[in-house]
Amino acid sequence: MQPSNNQGIVMIDTPQKPTEVLELQKELQAKGEVKYVVNTEPHPDHFTGNYFFQAPVLAHKGARNAILKYPLQALVDRTNELDLEGRPLMHEYTIKLPEITFSDWLAINLGEHTIELIYCPGHTPSEAVVYIPQEGVIFSGDNVVYKVKAWLHDALPEEWIASLKKLRALEADIIVPGHGDDICSMDYLSQQEALISNWTKAVKSAIKAGLNEEQALANIGNPDPFPMPKGCKAMAPQVDKMIIEHLFQLYRE
Ligand SMILES: [Zn+2]
Repeated sequence: MQPSNNQGIVMIDTPQKPTEVLELQKELQAKGEVKYVVNTEPHPDHFTGNYFFQAPVLAHKGARNAILKYPLQALVDRTNELDLEGRPLMHEYTIKLPEITFSDWLAINLGEHTIELIYCPGHTPSEAVVYIPQEGVIFSGDNVVYKVKAWLHDALPEEWIASLKKLRALEADIIVPGHGDDICSMDYLSQQEALISNWTKAVKSAIKAGLNEEQALANIGNPDPFPMPKGCKAMAPQVDKMIIEHLFQLYRE
C-alpha cells in the first residue's frame, strides 16, 4: 500500500513476488517517486521485494536484526517456488536490509504529511505500524489481519493485545490490515484481540490439562475460525502446528 503525496511515495512493505513488484512499479510511475520503503515486520511477505526498490528502507531495529539473520538461499527458493514467472528477476538477488532503524517512534515528514512509525510488538517482536494522523489512517502490518487467520507462530500475545489497545487510542477511522481483502474500521480491533486471547486461553488450558503439543493440536478446536490469507492456503495444516509449538514454548514454564 502506498499513501501518495505531492512530494513522493512512502511504500509500506514490498511484494513477495517479483512479478508483482513489476506490476506495482508500472502503477507507481504515474504517481511519483518512491522516496522511502517501510518494513512493518521481518517476515518474507513484507521484505522480499525491498531489493527491487532504490529508496532507503526503514524498520524497527529488531526487524533489521531478524532480516539480517534470514537465510538467503531459503528466501530465494521460496520466492522462486511462489513465482515461476519471476525467476529471471531473481538471478542477482540479495536481501536488501533496512538502512534506517528506530526503537519506539520515528516520523517521516514528506510534503504536507507526517508519517509516523510506531513500535507495536505483537505479531512479531519487532512489529511496527504506520500512522498518518492527517488522514486518520493506520497501516497496521500483521497486527491486524482482516477476516483471515492470524499467525501467532512468532508472536508475543500479551504485547500484541497491549499494542492493539495502543492503536485504539489513536485518532483514526481506517485500518489498512496486513492481510485481508478489505480495509476495516477501528471496531475490528476488539475482534482481533479476542482471536489472540482465544489462542492463548486454549493453549494455556491444554498445558494445564497435561497435554503435549500433538495432543493439543488434535484437541484444540478452532480458536481462530477465519480462512487462511490469500496465497498461503496450502500452508493451513502447518500453521496451527507452528502456533501451538510457539505458544507451548512461551507458556510451558
Ligand atoms: Zn507476518
